[in-house]
Amino acid sequence: MNYLPASHRYDKMQYRRCGRSGLMLPAVSLGLWHNFGHVDSPGNIRNLLLAAFDAGITHFDLANNYGPPPGSAEENFGKVLRRDLLPYRDELIISTKAGNEMWPGPYGNSGSRKYLLSSLDQSLRRMGIEYVDIFYHHRPDPETPLEETMTALDQAVRSGKALYAGISNYPPKLVRKASAILHFLGTPCLIHQPRYSMLVREPEKGLLSTLEEGGIGCIAFSPLAQGLLTDRYLKGIPGDSRAARNHFLKKNSITPELLETVSGLNRVASGRGQSLARMAIAWLLRDPRVTSVLIGASSAGQLMDNIGALDNLEFSKKELLAIEKILSRESPMP
Ligand code: NDP
Repeated sequence: MNYLPASHRYDKMQYRRCGRSGLMLPAVSLGLWHNFGHVDSPGNIRNLLLAAFDAGITHFDLANNYGPPPGSAEENFGKVLRRDLLPYRDELIISTKAGNEMWPGPYGNSGSRKYLLSSLDQSLRRMGIEYVDIFYHHRPDPETPLEETMTALDQAVRSGKALYAGISNYPPKLVRKASAILHFLGTPCLIHQPRYSMLVREPEKGLLSTLEEGGIGCIAFSPLAQGLLTDRYLKGIPGDSRAARNHFLKKNSITPELLETVSGLNRVASGRGQSLARMAIAWLLRDPRVTSVLIGASSAGQLMDNIGALDNLEFSKKELLAIEKILSRESPMP
């Protein structure tokens, strides 16, 4: 059956300006780190992507190494694009990244111009598209001069293979340096992608203010702390969950203390008439410096639950205090 997107897809989603750029991003974006590899169900992959687009999610975030195996999330995204979404390419913001290990040898990792530009070419081939909307350096590389890495991002944009440049996992001092270089080159830094959630508060220690000053957008990854900030683990570790795979989310991170914190947050969420997942997303979006939250989902049901966060982004002082009190008992996650 030919796919026809929902005609109401732009009615409910909110769109926020990304820093001081002209680009608007959906308040909720979908990442393809997990659940989109060759090990996953092609039917579920298609369902998730189309359900997202039908709900007004215009932004899909990838990286060269997402899978498993590495590269397969881009290939699978490309398949759905060709089958269903290509007529709507101008309604989509597709991002990819290079910076982590992707292929063997000295040119398949880190921050060299050689690696970044050949990786971008590979990503475009895997997705079957001529350009990405945002190309990121995935993580800082202390061994490569920052000028070289930023010049490669600038080159990606000038060559038309990317429309905007972004950085991820950069600390505030390096953000300022990278942004100054990009500004000098004439390709302003559009966006930064940090890990940020109720359980990981690091960006509050200078990063968010740095981004605001620099006119750089912020898209918060792992806003649900990989699923910990939901009701997923309140009654044990489900067999089909990320923690059950014990790889990126370790079973032993689900301690009794953490579960106490999550149960407390869950009670605050219930009091607001929200699921914990929705409250965790709303809590991030209450800060106007956060352009978008970058969620993951293993089912269309989870995705729809998460988008429901937009129904209530307001917090009373009492609710915020109750959340802080619960979180102050939790030791920060690494
Ligand atoms: P989340 O914190 O949103 O975790 C997603 C997981 O939480 C899902 O796979 C699912 O786990 C569970 N979940 C989601 N919604 C619900 C719900 N409503 N109820 C119960 N459980 C739920 O984000 P991710 O860690 O997946 O990261 C999101 C994206 O961020 C990535 O895809 C990637 O694009 C980006 N990212 C970027 C990084 C970087 O270095 N720049 C690093 C990491 C991520 P389950 O599978 O168990 O059902």
